[in-house]
Amino acid sequence: MNVECAGRCSAGEKCTNSRLYHDQCARLELFRHANPVIGKAVRTKQDIAKNQLVAEFRGKWYTENYFKGIVRR
Ligand SMILES: [Zn+2]
Repeated sequence: MNVECAGRCSAGEKCTNSRLYHDQCARLELFRHANPVIGKAVRTKQDIAKNQLVAEFRGKWYTENYFKGIVRR
């Protein structure tokens, strides 16, 4: 997990740890996955550079085994 500055950083505008605060996420779009069990998914049409911020995650984590169990149903 990465913690970012939230606008009250002493570095002010020079802060390089506030990408979420300055909305520097990749542009994402929702699409309907071919697997109906998965339903809606997220993708981006732009290239993602190594270590580039993609998005802030706000959701529930599933283990890989739990996810595979859902998809197999
Ligand atoms: Zn900062």
